[in-house]
Amino acid sequence: NRPVLSDDSLFREANLIGGEWVQAADGAAIAVTNPANGRLIGHVPSLSRAEVARAVDAAHEAQAGWRALTGKERAAILRRLFDLMMANQDDLARIMTAEQGKPFAEAKGEIAYAAGFIEWFGEEAKRIYGDTIPAPRAGQRIIVHKEPIGVFAAITPWNFPTAMITRKAGPGWAAGCTSVIRPASETPFSALALGVLAERAGMPAGVCNVVTGSASDSGKELCENPKVAKLSFTGSTRVGSILLAQCAPTVKKTSMELGGNAPFIVFDDADLDEAVKGAMMSKYRNTGQTCVCANRFLVQSGVYDAFADKLAAAVSALKVGNGMDDGVTQGPLINEGAIAKVEEHVADALAHGARIAAGGRRGALGGTFYEPTILIDVPRTARIFSEETFGPVAPLIRFETEAEAIEMANDTPFGLAAYFYSRDVGRIFRVAGAIEAGIVGINEGIISTEVAPFGGVKASGLGREGSKYGIEDYLEIKYLCLGGI
Ligand code: ADP
Repeated sequence: NRPVLSDDSLFREANLIGGEWVQAADGAAIAVTNPANGRLIGHVPSLSRAEVARAVDAAHEAQAGWRALTGKERAAILRRLFDLMMANQDDLARIMTAEQGKPFAEAKGEIAYAAGFIEWFGEEAKRIYGDTIPAPRAGQRIIVHKEPIGVFAAITPWNFPTAMITRKAGPGWAAGCTSVIRPASETPFSALALGVLAERAGMPAGVCNVVTGSASDSGKELCENPKVAKLSFTGSTRVGSILLAQCAPTVKKTSMELGGNAPFIVFDDADLDEAVKGAMMSKYRNTGQTCVCANRFLVQSGVYDAFADKLAAAVSALKVGNGMDDGVTQGPLINEGAIAKVEEHVADALAHGARIAAGGRRGALGGTFYEPTILIDVPRTARIFSEETFGPVAPLIRFETEAEAIEMANDTPFGLAAYFYSRDVGRIFRVAGAIEAGIVGINEGIISTEVAPFGGVKASGLGREGSKYGIEDYLEIKYLCLGGI
């Protein structure tokens, strides 16, 4: 049941520590299954805390050599890694679809997106500029240097098994930091394949370590180990706040990409066809399992029915199935827990008076397949209004005025992405200014790119990934004050 690859050496059932491919000393292992059919794909080691600490040691030992390279030298290695990812795009996508479930075309898209962070930040490695600041006293000079922060740990989720790693490791490696990467236990093979390619690209031993095993044990070690200077996490707000608390005693720098509850507002003056196109991408990509997926559709009453009809027509063209099968646009949900939450949200909305306009039940293929769903007349008292569903369900909530839409959009502790559709330039600037979110898509449903800063406000996180801002999270500022000149 392993994915069939043209280069089978990309599939590793071992961890990468200090340039060695290793097993857990006690032989403990975790089984990884394919969410489309429940079949076993393979096993990865379940490391003990002491073995995770050994990976931190390896990263720490590699730190001096890696930071001593010039930006141009690190850039050359990252460029080779980018080229290798693109040359192996199909194999990497096969591994991803097998363990994550997303359609093969989407998996290929993710590999290109993920490789984009390696390419872009490799280029930035040459442009880590400091400052000179006019001194307040004669005979003084003030110089600001940027230095790599040290060893970083990356704890990453299963929904983007490769891109959530490179979005952290791209800037981290470019800045001169070394790393311990701990992928989700659902999707470790994508991370391990990246480790193979990092070695092939000429990355020195210990710069990229990849460990798998118990989330809480490895999480504790990575948070508490004083040799880890920075933790970058993508996942739920619940786990993010546990990790922040665990990082507090050693005062670690952190970047946190946490949950969202994205509003998608359609105003009366929107181009409805464009809004439907954006809604389809924002809602149903990755079967609704992204932290920037539209979670609440707020639709103005003048276009409510028309938008619902057009969205239902678009949804009827989606095809649910195994991501390796031709024409499939909707893979399975990642596991039983994920589908249980979707079912709870739908049942709760119906109990609050909502109606089903499409889907609303498990898919005919069984397992964790769920039909792409639209709920209409959803009241804001439904759970789906205040909690992230992380599944293929679009709840349509009606509003009358712009002020009401803004109030509803901001009525959440989260503030990652928000979307709205309008053709009125005054409204565009008013609403964009009033919305509490780190990312605002305006007449756009897809906002992720390596060149722009991704991140949230409120309980959605700390820091930014991607763009010139993303590398700052991996740099320390050192201020030199020269006197007596
Ligand atoms: P999701 O709901 O998307 O799975 P989680 O926040 O549960 O998000 O998981 C994101 C990542 O955090 C995964 O790699 C998961 O294994 C890891 N994780 C979960 N619980 C902990 C924990 N207590 N400590 C460290 N990592 C954890």
